[in-house]
Amino acid sequence: MAQVQRMSRLMVKTLRDDPADAETLNHKLLVRAGYVRRTAAGIWTWLPLGKKVYENVARIVREEMDAIGGQEVLLPALLPKEPYEASGRYEEYGDLLFRLKDRKGSDYVLGPTHEEIFTQVVKDQCSSYKDLPVILYQIQTKYRDEARPRAGVLRGREFQMKDSYSFDTSDEGLAEAYALHRGAYQRIFERLGLDYRIVSAVSGAMGGSASEEFLAPAPAGEDTFVDCPECDYAANTEAVTFALKPVSVEGHPAAEELDTPDTPTIETLAEHLGVPASATLKNLLVKVDGEIVAVGVPGDREVDLGKLAEHLAPAEVELVTAEDFEGRDDLVRGYVGPQGLGKVRYLADPRVAPGTSWITGANKPDTHARNVVCGRDFEVDDYLDVVVVEAGDPCPLCGAGLKLGRAIEIGHIFQLGRKYADTFQLDVLGQNGKPVRVTMGSYGIGVSRAVAALVEQTADEQGLCWSKEVAPADVHVVAAGKAVQTELALDVAAQLGAAGVRVLVDDRAGVSPGVKFTDAELIGVPQILVAGRRSAEGVLELKNRRTGEREELSVAEAIARLSA
Ligand code: ATP
Ligand code: MG
Repeated sequence: MAQVQRMSRLMVKTLRDDPADAETLNHKLLVRAGYVRRTAAGIWTWLPLGKKVYENVARIVREEMDAIGGQEVLLPALLPKEPYEASGRYEEYGDLLFRLKDRKGSDYVLGPTHEEIFTQVVKDQCSSYKDLPVILYQIQTKYRDEARPRAGVLRGREFQMKDSYSFDTSDEGLAEAYALHRGAYQRIFERLGLDYRIVSAVSGAMGGSASEEFLAPAPAGEDTFVDCPECDYAANTEAVTFALKPVSVEGHPAAEELDTPDTPTIETLAEHLGVPASATLKNLLVKVDGEIVAVGVPGDREVDLGKLAEHLAPAEVELVTAEDFEGRDDLVRGYVGPQGLGKVRYLADPRVAPGTSWITGANKPDTHARNVVCGRDFEVDDYLDVVVVEAGDPCPLCGAGLKLGRAIEIGHIFQLGRKYADTFQLDVLGQNGKPVRVTMGSYGIGVSRAVAALVEQTADEQGLCWSKEVAPADVHVVAAGKAVQTELALDVAAQLGAAGVRVLVDDRAGVSPGVKFTDAELIGVPQILVAGRRSAEGVLELKNRRTGEREELSVAEAIARLSA
């Protein structure tokens, strides 16, 4: 027996027009179809239809987390600040963290994620290696004071996340917990009906621990990623690497200086010499922990300062200012070249490989040099992938031209290691009777965001278009309006319900058939069954919401088909 929900008794107010402030499809359609209501910026109310979809997503997540041995818990969202102070995140989170005081003046936070608290739970509950491994998860409300909470339920300030945490005594155990999560996430997103890619979240160069993101390609997404049209490769743009391909330094003409008045930028230089910007070498000066460092990239490429900072972390990276040139006769602003840099550290993109020849600054005002060869006229101290990735850049695996796309981050899996265990001294007694430091993984899925991602990927001009497991009902029965039609609709709905099919039946009186059909398309239940013209003969019309295919069926046929 499944639920038969009568529209006449359902709190749903559909709208013909998009809300004025809506920029994304999920915001427009979830509001128009009566699934959610905006309470404040980035803060949403789930209305009856929306709650059903949300719960379906949560159920799928639960089932797959339970299947890998996860144990569900529920931690508070209102948390003391001390654990976050201990980990350093009370400061690090900055404005993202909601901070508040109780009546006694003690400080609290609204949890943005729960690594600290889970570590404390396990420290309290587990004391021996026999208590591990353990995977704990919760589906819970998180709070982050996002700077731009403008994309509907895609980016909330209050939102729902499934967060899980694995605790192991060995690196192998952590790798296993990570692999279990990876598999569970694949099954979850498949069942949700999301198109997704798994991308590595940090660049290989950083070494460190494994971390992957699950991205759902969609124009509304706030992440850019690269996708190889020829092979399986997909990556966060930050993680794309370019292979260093050294060639022989022999055979190049000797370097020579060129008189290039008033050419302090790549554009002015390339125009003056009549060469493409790609023939020139751009040398960006930055300060790394206060020391001036030069970064060389082809003249037609941009340096991604975020990537650079990430590579050099924890060192602080800043741009140089005019003052930094004072007393530095070795640095001629606008005319820097790596061949005359002396002790200044020179970092470069792998495109500046040994054997490549460049036009670059000659370290004299108004002067450049050509035939400046890497490995002959200058050396690179360190190679770093720091250029902004562009469409057409070669795939690191197969060399095909990469495509750039936008995507929504729907999940993240992360081998944290011992960071939090160190902070909270989480040890258990090992097999040999000595304490062992525990190693941790943390894994998130945006449950509310997954609802938004589904809308962004599947909705069409008419409205929402849910996948089977997520839809608020299996079939939307529409009674066109006359008594005989309503009678048939309610009868079929009851029989379907008895057969275990979840039914939404539009039995509203005084609503025109046109409005009912439009609403059915907007609400997006996968099958629409209409009791219309041929109701007196007991014939119904079944319409597939996604394909638009229609066919006429008898009551018995409709029930057999839909309950199959
Ligand atoms: P983003 O880069 O989009 O801000 P994040 O890297 O901060 O995400 P995590 O801290 O890894 O995200 O959180 C785990 C998951 O929670 C994310 O993969 C995403 O699906 C979801 N999530 C994060 N922030 C929000 C938000 N403001 N609203 C809805 N879901 C979110
Ligand atoms: Mg974030």
